[in-house]
Amino acid sequence: MAAREFDAIVIGAGSVGNPTAYFLAKEGLRTLVVDELASSGQGQNKAAIGGVRATHSDPAKITLCRRSIEIFSGWKEETGTDIGWKMGGYCFPAFTEKVEATVKGLLPVQKKFHLNIDWMDAEALKKVVPGINENGLRGGTFSPEDGQVSPLAAAESFTREATKLGAVYRYREPVTSLVMQGNSVVGVRTTEGEYRASTVVNTSGVNATAICQMAGLDMPILPDSHEGGISAPVQPFLGPLIVDLRPGPEGKTINFYFGQDSHGQIIFCYTPIAPISGTNRNSTYEFMPIVAARLVEVIPRLKNLMIRRVWRGLYPMTPDGSPILGRAPNVDGFVLGIGMCGQGFMLGPGVGESLAALVAHGAPAIDREVFDLLSPARDLYKGKKEALK
Ligand SMILES: Cc1cc2nc3c(=O)[nH]c(=O)nc-3n(C[C@H](O)[C@H](O)[C@H](O)COP(=O)(O)OP(=O)(O)OC[C@H]3O[C@@H](n4cnc5c(N)ncnc54)[C@H](O)[C@@H]3O)c2cc1C
Repeated sequence: MAAREFDAIVIGAGSVGNPTAYFLAKEGLRTLVVDELASSGQGQNKAAIGGVRATHSDPAKITLCRRSIEIFSGWKEETGTDIGWKMGGYCFPAFTEKVEATVKGLLPVQKKFHLNIDWMDAEALKKVVPGINENGLRGGTFSPEDGQVSPLAAAESFTREATKLGAVYRYREPVTSLVMQGNSVVGVRTTEGEYRASTVVNTSGVNATAICQMAGLDMPILPDSHEGGISAPVQPFLGPLIVDLRPGPEGKTINFYFGQDSHGQIIFCYTPIAPISGTNRNSTYEFMPIVAARLVEVIPRLKNLMIRRVWRGLYPMTPDGSPILGRAPNVDGFVLGIGMCGQGFMLGPGVGESLAALVAHGAPAIDREVFDLLSPARDLYKGKKEALK
């Protein structure tokens, strides 16, 4: 093999790119990963708080995340590496009638997919979330098989295992153009030269639109910023990741979520009431006061936490809020794993496995009909139009 010829090239060593490279290499394909940054997971992957759940309402996300959970939870046994997997579950507590109706309303579809999730009354929930504010607590849903993983440990481990299987990683090499032959992508050009492959996989996160444009493809992925933070470790007491669906009293947050990771650190973030578009990653002065008040409101005993670090990252958003997966329409040799929105870390392994199977065998690893719900050929604005009706 010439040093610059591969079977597949993955653009982006992130939440999706690393598992994709691992599964491509596992399929026996000569795989190259190029990233413009200095090491794996340095894009939005490291901004994630590591929540992993299959309990969505969309069939494709349910199926892909269920595979992700199987892969993450079996990773230590498979590779010997601890990536911080903690099966503590997800809990959506309800303090209002509206939230109760919302989370109960999702149960029929979640149960249809045999997800292990149920409504618990307040007494039962207090046992799952020790110290939860009892004031107005009506109960909540709990899904014990969801969990958390360390995003950086996972990126590092997927990279190491992919490399063991023969994948080659090139860092600090931004892709500047795609090598085209007619309407086929046959390679990439980086600042260090040209690489050839019969398939190029675009997993470039918030830069996906620019990479698609290099093949003449219009795929609208817009960055949307979200802040997160982490405390110093405290004695483990909290199993599940908590999602509080109430808008905040401060008028700035639509919901917020937090959990305790496998090292005992409390990790948290919120969703701003109005999306903050753009690529500014400077932390804001308002994040910490707002999130601290919300944390203490849900679990008062968190009031003495020492905060270690905050950050601001970007969601790669699509118009309909769902990822774009599969072969690019009207361009040969080009596969897309883009538009992960706020769930790219949990989708990563499931998506990576299916993209690799698509490249190696022409079919995803999950049911084709379900996978195709996220096809790049769908009307990306349909969901949005329906939401506006
Ligand atoms: C505060 C916060 C909390 C979050 N919490 C969670 C969570 O709990 N669970 C969850 O599932 N998700 C979470 N997310 C979302 C998650 O971080 C993203 O959805 C996910 O990281 C996107 O994955 P990706 O592979 O598409 O992009 P990335 O991980 O960003 O990977 C893309 C890679 O492509 C590279 N790249 C881009 N352009 C080029 C180029 N031209 N040439 C070469 N390389 C290039 C980048 O350097 C980067 O490494 C959170 C996000 C934020 C901001």
